[in-house]
Amino acid sequence: MKVERTSFGTTHQGEAAALFLLEEPGVLRVRVTDFGGCLVRIETPDREGRLADVVQGFDSLEGYLCAENPYMGAVVGRFANRIAGGRFTLGGREIELAKNNGPNSLHGGERGFSHAVWKSRILDGDDGVGVELRHHSEDGDEGYPGALDCTVRYLLRPGGALAIESEATTSAPTVVNLTFHPYFNLEGHAAGSVLDHRLRLCAERFTPLDEHQIPTGDLAAVDDTPFDFRRSKRLGRDIDADEEQIRRGTGFDHNWVIDDWSPDESQLRLAARLEAPVSGRVLELCTTEPGLQVYTANFLDGELEGKSGTRYAARSSVCLEPQHFPDSPNQPGFPSTVLEPGETYRQRTLYRFSVAP
Ligand code: BGC
Repeated sequence: MKVERTSFGTTHQGEAAALFLLEEPGVLRVRVTDFGGCLVRIETPDREGRLADVVQGFDSLEGYLCAENPYMGAVVGRFANRIAGGRFTLGGREIELAKNNGPNSLHGGERGFSHAVWKSRILDGDDGVGVELRHHSEDGDEGYPGALDCTVRYLLRPGGALAIESEATTSAPTVVNLTFHPYFNLEGHAAGSVLDHRLRLCAERFTPLDEHQIPTGDLAAVDDTPFDFRRSKRLGRDIDADEEQIRRGTGFDHNWVIDDWSPDESQLRLAARLEAPVSGRVLELCTTEPGLQVYTANFLDGELEGKSGTRYAARSSVCLEPQHFPDSPNQPGFPSTVLEPGETYRQRTLYRFSVAP
C-alpha cells in the first residue's frame, strides 16, 4: 500500500491545496484533497479486473471551487443536511445560522467545512496508509456556537476498503453532524443513469419530509412504501411513484433510520449495499451513525461540467450519507447532536468495495 502527496493548485484566497493518492495496487486507488476533504477519485476493479473511477467530481481544484459544485465528494460540516429556518435553541439561547437553502441552513452554511483547506498529515504506519485532515472552526462560524476542532482520517484497509474516522471537540456547547458526500456510480462516473443499480438498506423506518424538505419528526415504517429497500431493489423501481414523499424529495432525498442503533453504539453496522449490474462492482457501507441520507442526485441538471468534460445529469449517481438525522437540533424525538465541552464527537464509516460473483 502506498501514499503520495502532490499539488492540487491554489484557492481563490491563495491557499495551496494538496492531492493525496492512497493505493492498494490493483484493488483500490483513492485520491483525496485537503480542500473540503473531497474524495476526488475512487478507482475499483470490475469483474474483469478493469479499474474505473466510481465517483463524480472534477479534474482540477477549479471545479471544486465553483459555486455550482453540489458538495461533490466533500466532508460536510458542521451540520449535514437542513436545519429548519436556519435556527434552533440550545441551552435556552436562540441560535441563528446562515441560511443558504431557501429558508433553511444546508450543509453547514455558506462556507462550511466543504469549502475550507484543511491541515493535513500523511499516515503511513503498521496498520496501513492514509491521510489525516484537521480543521479549526471559530466560535460563531456560520452562526454556530463554540470553537470546534475537527479531525477526519481517510485510511486504506487491506482488501479494498476505505475507512473514515472523524472526531470533534468544542469550547462551548454546540451541535455537530458530519457527513461525506461522494456521488457514486459504480459503473463509472460517466456511465449515465444510476437507476439500474440495486440497493439494499438495513432500515425498517425513514424520516418523512414536509414541503420544505424538513423531517416531520415521524419515524415511519417503510412497509408498502417506495422506501422499502430491506431486500435489494432497483433504485429506479419506485423512484417516480405517484406518492407524496417521492414528490417532496423529487425522487429519493430522505434519511433512513438504520436498524439497531443505540446512543452508546461504537460498532460499525452494515447500513447499505449498492450493486452495479453490468460491472458487478459492489459497495457496502458500514457506519456508527444512526441515519443514512440517500440522495439520487435529483438536482443535477446536465449543466455541470465534471471530469473529462462529462455533463452530470439528474440521477446519474447516488449519495449515501451516513449522519445523524436532518434538523435534529429542532427535533426532540431524534438522537441528540449536541456536543458539550469535554466530550468528543466520533463517527466511523467504512466503504468496502468488492465484485458480485
Ligand atoms: C441533500 C440534497 C441536496 C444535496 C446537494 C444532499 O445531501 O439531501 O437535498 O440537494 O445534498 O446539496
